[in-house]
Amino acid sequence: MIGTESCGARPPRVFRSRAWPGGSWHGAAVPASIVGTTSVTCPACGQSRDNQIVQSINTATNPAAKQRLLDGELNVLVCDCGRRTQLAANVLFHDPDADYFCQVCPGGEAAMDQAAQAFRGSGAEGTQRIVPSLNALVEKVKLLDAGLEDWAIEMAKVLLLASTPEQDLDRVLLFDDVDHEAGVLHWMLFDPSGSSARSVASPLAAYGKLASRTHGRPGIHELRIDRAWGLEAVRRMITGAN
Ligand SMILES: [Zn+2]
Repeated sequence: MIGTESCGARPPRVFRSRAWPGGSWHGAAVPASIVGTTSVTCPACGQSRDNQIVQSINTATNPAAKQRLLDGELNVLVCDCGRRTQLAANVLFHDPDADYFCQVCPGGEAAMDQAAQAFRGSGAEGTQRIVPSLNALVEKVKLLDAGLEDWAIEMAKVLLLASTPEQDLDRVLLFDDVDHEAGVLHWMLFDPSGSSARSVASPLAAYGKLASRTHGRPGIHELRIDRAWGLEAVRRMITGAN
């Protein structure tokens, strides 16, 4: 296991990468990309090798890293035995044009809290998010590119799951893409084990109705816009609390 021990302003100790310049990880001090290498062991065959780890993506100066993220190629160990392993690492995603920051923080609750404190103390403006995994970041970036509000999407997910026969609100449901012409959102709905997924669709208009409730928009210090946030927001909406 790597990269699961901390998530703060500095990279975890396990990486032999450069430190964040000046201890700052927001604003102009952040370089185009922070790349290090770390020794990782293939969980299938036990072979160790040095693997590149990207810990910072600036979409303006390093669009290639963003593409690798979207392609599922970022921070992946590809072993000679054929096994592909996603490496858990802290990754800061910054889209300066959209004024958007998202921090991947795979180290658990304490690490997420620590990252939230760092965001709050940074004085950075714009949209700030914290997510637990690269997969979650990929979804956020797809939403950003599609011009969709992640908070309204999380609410739409809860309503969509509640409308399925299983009504399983814990089921993994990820945004895939939007078809504006057909007025449809496409999603990937995973089975309870999370191992396989099928495509589902929902009306874009239903999302639009949620997104138009601008009073439901999260505050600047609400950094974790996820299923739990969506559940609570839907509950508030239904009970008429806002
Ligand atoms: Zn292997």
